[in-house]
Amino acid sequence: MKPAIKQIQSGSICILGIPFDQNSSFRKGPALAPERIRESYFSSASNLWSEKGLNLESINHLYDLGDINFKDNTDAFNIITTSVKTALDLNCHVICLGGDHSITLPVIEAYAQKYDCLNILDLDAHPDLYDTLDDNRYSHACPFARIMEKKLATRLVQAGIRTMNGHQREQAQKFGVEVNEMKDNNNWLDELEFKGPVYLSIDLDCLDPAFAPGVSHHEPGGMTTRNIIDIVHHLKGNLIGADIVEYNPDRDIHSMTSVVAAKLLKEIIARIYEDIV
Ligand code: MN
Ligand code: MN
Repeated sequence: MKPAIKQIQSGSICILGIPFDQNSSFRKGPALAPERIRESYFSSASNLWSEKGLNLESINHLYDLGDINFKDNTDAFNIITTSVKTALDLNCHVICLGGDHSITLPVIEAYAQKYDCLNILDLDAHPDLYDTLDDNRYSHACPFARIMEKKLATRLVQAGIRTMNGHQREQAQKFGVEVNEMKDNNNWLDELEFKGPVYLSIDLDCLDPAFAPGVSHHEPGGMTTRNIIDIVHHLKGNLIGADIVEYNPDRDIHSMTSVVAAKLLKEIIARIYEDIV
């Protein structure tokens, strides 16, 4: 991963840090995530090869755009959309490191301008479909309500869900969200297929807290790390971007969750690279 000090080549994979947690409802912390995930990515405790045998150090078209600098938070979403759009205009594939989950809305605003028929696969313990939470319509509990209202995605599929309530069930029905709850058989994931471009949003609390304690909301009964890696490897469709959000270093134990985030980042980079070469 090279720093983007010179002209970025068209069609590259770009990593963008979004250190923003002002829309976290419960506790702050995810703003510190991008830096910690990078530390684990480059840690000498592991190497920079993907599981399927790609040496990530050998890729020419991989850049680190660094972190967005939020001087103040008044226009944070616009800054995020503009930053992502700049990379997409160069036909790049952007992988964003959050930040709380609210950042997915401005990221998708940029993606929807580039791709007409955008599919989203969202892995999360929570459906994040609240119309509003704590008087904040841009809360990290609301991004997919806004995305669907604005018709930014043609298809939204969610998996890992285990906190559905009455209101969010109504919202899911209203927006036609395909919700796959943990309580149901998750073997369907093997058959998961998308026509056209797919954006993958990974809220790390989709994982069971046993695998990823470094999140603000511990919700038992979740996915394994292996489940997510298998999805990244076997997902049928053209993966064009992703985000990894809700890592909260303040809650982590021995960096184990940042190592999970870094591992997922490596596998996502390799998967997108596979699709573009
Ligand atoms: Mn979420
Ligand atoms: Mn969540």
